[in-house]
Amino acid sequence: MTMSRENRTKERLVVVGGDAAGMSAASQARRLKGPDALEIIAFERGHFSSYSACGIPYWVGGEVDDRDKLIARSPEEHRERGIDLRMRTEVTELDVDGGRVRSRDLDSGAEEWTSYDKLVVATGARPVRPSLPGIDAPGVHGVQTLDDGQALIDTLSRTEGRRAVVIGAGYIGVEMAEALINRGYEVTVVNRGKEPMATLDPDMGRLVHEAMEGMGITMVNDAEVTKILTGDDGRVRAVATEDGEYAADVVVLGIGVRPETTLAGAAGLPLGDHKGLLTDLAMRVRGHENIWAGGDCVEVLDLVSGSERHIALGTHANKHGQVIGSNVGGGYATFPGVVGTAVSKVCDLEIARTGLREKDAHRAGLRFEAVTIESTNSAGYYPKADLMTVKMLAELRTGRLLGVQIVGREGAAKRVDIAAVALTAGMTVEQMTALDLGYAPPFSPVWDPILVAARKAVTAVRKTAQ
Ligand SMILES: Cc1cc2nc3c(=O)[nH]c(=O)nc-3n(C[C@H](O)[C@H](O)[C@H](O)COP(=O)(O)OP(=O)(O)OC[C@H]3O[C@@H](n4cnc5c(N)ncnc54)[C@H](O)[C@@H]3O)c2cc1C
Repeated sequence: MTMSRENRTKERLVVVGGDAAGMSAASQARRLKGPDALEIIAFERGHFSSYSACGIPYWVGGEVDDRDKLIARSPEEHRERGIDLRMRTEVTELDVDGGRVRSRDLDSGAEEWTSYDKLVVATGARPVRPSLPGIDAPGVHGVQTLDDGQALIDTLSRTEGRRAVVIGAGYIGVEMAEALINRGYEVTVVNRGKEPMATLDPDMGRLVHEAMEGMGITMVNDAEVTKILTGDDGRVRAVATEDGEYAADVVVLGIGVRPETTLAGAAGLPLGDHKGLLTDLAMRVRGHENIWAGGDCVEVLDLVSGSERHIALGTHANKHGQVIGSNVGGGYATFPGVVGTAVSKVCDLEIARTGLREKDAHRAGLRFEAVTIESTNSAGYYPKADLMTVKMLAELRTGRLLGVQIVGREGAAKRVDIAAVALTAGMTVEQMTALDLGYAPPFSPVWDPILVAARKAVTAVRKTAQ
């Protein structure tokens, strides 16, 4: 049994979840407060700490040759830095009134209570896994953790057939389609939406769809998977939808994630509409002085629409952890919110978005104009010039930038960062037209595609205002 709160001489921080948010918080708190002032105990139920799930598609696809390259800091390294990280140990209950957590060692089965002065909940997200017939058949894989990635790689090395079906066409689905193409598979992507990449408007998703078909990927949109079919050996053999069957030697699930807040909800901590934990700007759980939460298990404020959203991204999780660690360690930091920036790619096609899509803007009650332009990623005469499409939304009357989506080849995606900065600064599209962006023929036309879109948006907003 762990020592009770009263018998301890120094403050104790307990962290639940040993990846991006949890270990960033623990590490930052340790930087600010030494082991004599703060004891830090972290619980992680998996086999790995502080790893990049973001790198899994590139490891599976073979660009990253070694799993360990995805691990930023091992449990031993955390321990050397004065964090008592307990691996393969699952927290099974949060006793908020008693200021303690119950944990179970997953190898020995031993259970114990550990008291805390401060608690960080960083339990991440869990992948959606619909209860379809055959979903647990050998050959069906998720890609949420390094263990999942290893299991998939093992299956790919053992399987002779070369047909893969990816279920879901969000960013993980399209990145996994690329990984499987790189491993020589014939890839079919089965997608519930009308177009891939539902984080884009459908007209921009259509461009991704066409490009993926151009890469030899079979796209099946508007399709609901009804079951996973298995052969006589019990292994997956096809994915069935209402309209057809798609032969598969391996199936990868990329259907999205939900906040992992089962424990937090059971403990009575406040959850929002998306079932993520609700925090204040210092990442403190609302109404709980000594509990913080961050990463994929929380909802974040969308600075453009003013509403709470659940966005599972490592870039946010690391920042949340940093903010939490600063506050827990006696400093002061806040996380103001997000503008919804995300980038991804499928083979040589880059995809980016920030701010609101048309449907988000409608939902927020905003009136706006949307414009789309085609330009190139370098001067038109430059040898590697390739098409790039930029869609921009601007508010009527004010001309405030509301969102940008980009689909194009090399150099397209990271241009979205210009728009992310403009959104954060609350710029109008007219102000954007005067931005002093860099230009030389290898990098952009003399008018950067973002500036071309901003100019078109200015004209559209002015016309509507008359
Ligand atoms: C394939 C893939 C690609 C991605 N690509 C990108 C990308 O390109 N860019 C980007 O920004 N993001 C990307 N992400 C998302 C990013 O990986 C996550 O947003 C990030 O890992 C979230 O960090 P977290 O610490 O909040 O949660 P997690 O990384 O999920 O960590 C939570 C940890 O808590 C542990 N845990 C949960 N409950 C308990 C419990 N009760 N007891 C003990 N331990 C517990 C879990 O085992 C887990 O290790 C990708 C994710 C995947 C799966």
